[in-house]
Amino acid sequence: MNNYDSDRLLESVNDTYRQVYMPEDADIIVFNTCHIREKAAEKIYSEVGKIKDLKKANKKLKLVITGCVAQAEGKAMIRRQPLIDAVLGPQMYHRFPSIIKKIKNNKIVELEFENDKKFEKLKEKRIISSKSSFVTIQEGCDKFCSFCVVPYTRGSEYSRNLIDIKNEVIDLVEKGTREIILLGQNVNAYHGSNIADKEINLAKLIKNLEKIDGLERISYTTSHPIDMDDELIELHGASTKLNPYLHLPVQSGSNKILKAMNRKYTVEDYYKIIDRVRSNCTNIAISSDFIIGYPGETKEDFKSTLNLVKEINFSQSYSFIYSSRPGTKSSRLDNLISREENKARLAELQELLNIQQKKFNSSFISKNLNVLVKGKGKIENQYRGTTKWMQTVNFKAKRLTNDFVKVNIKKVNNNSLLGEI
Ligand code: SAH
Ligand code: SF4
Repeated sequence: MNNYDSDRLLESVNDTYRQVYMPEDADIIVFNTCHIREKAAEKIYSEVGKIKDLKKANKKLKLVITGCVAQAEGKAMIRRQPLIDAVLGPQMYHRFPSIIKKIKNNKIVELEFENDKKFEKLKEKRIISSKSSFVTIQEGCDKFCSFCVVPYTRGSEYSRNLIDIKNEVIDLVEKGTREIILLGQNVNAYHGSNIADKEINLAKLIKNLEKIDGLERISYTTSHPIDMDDELIELHGASTKLNPYLHLPVQSGSNKILKAMNRKYTVEDYYKIIDRVRSNCTNIAISSDFIIGYPGETKEDFKSTLNLVKEINFSQSYSFIYSSRPGTKSSRLDNLISREENKARLAELQELLNIQQKKFNSSFISKNLNVLVKGKGKIENQYRGTTKWMQTVNFKAKRLTNDFVKVNIKKVNNNSLLGEI
């Protein structure tokens, strides 16, 4: 989502400013930040410190902090690091063009939640596009999982309306986009309105977007298990454009921990959802997020997570050590797990997940896959692209003009496939 937001920030000042690629050349530097885990948030201050010399060399240089760290820490960021000129929360990006004009010797802090106005202002045509483009359709969250800062930093759930989303997608497709990844912190809780001002769900939105000529693939992320409704599950079997890929974070395989996390589902509920998804779409790739070492997680609880992983077989996943976040319910808990224990648990989980990922990827060896070409690879004459299961494929070619190519898979690694046209 921060990638998408960064593009929109750039686009909003594109008429008066030009993007540069070296910090030395810039008059404005924006750090678009993430608050989800402590490590990401703290990194900002060490990066911002490096701007000191640049500011000495260029008296015009202004420093703006956007994103969820800006929202969470606000004015305190400027107190801690006076090099910062402005702090702008994620729901105030429509104010970015006027703010950068306004900064002189004053400090600016904007932290309201003006979702409506933001998307209204961002409605104009997109400038940055690629073969695969993100489109935010939903922001914020009302679920309040005990560990998570999102409801505080992105605010309450907000869905854009169908017309605006559709116009943005059509515009991107006209500019060459073939795949759209619909984004939201809780994307399947989407409940925007249609042309008749009637509320629609994510499945109906996707059915509508499918009609756009030239758009070949649709994906969505990130979903919450309790919002996987029947219509969406069935669409995975019926749709010709929806990728056979579902990212459905489970977080833990222990019912005790899921309850403590306020996740609102049990392990058994999760199994049922996956069974139904798989019976509708037999070749679907399932990926997930895991949190290790939530306060009070015993060895038994952790074993239950390993069992769930063995039971489901994930195609890829993200796993993290629990990070205590200011203001969340779980930040007041003690009973923390030691660093060593957490590291050992994470390593054990990741080893299992890596084996599953490699096994999933290996099932494609010698198959011919349709690959969406995304650009040049790391070595000469190499290209990279993605499959509809969201795997990266590297392959050799002299000169490519097509958006899609058929690639025969020869070799697989954990994170990518290697093939020949
Ligand atoms: N809405 C999604 C998750 C969005 S946050 C859901 O409900 O599943 C993205 C991921 O970051 C989460 O799935 C979780 O695994 C991780 N995460 C969030 N807060 C965290 C924390 N305090 N410590 C460690 N990981 C966290
Ligand atoms: Fe955070 Fe996701 Fe829970 Fe919302 S549903 S509070 S975004 S983890």
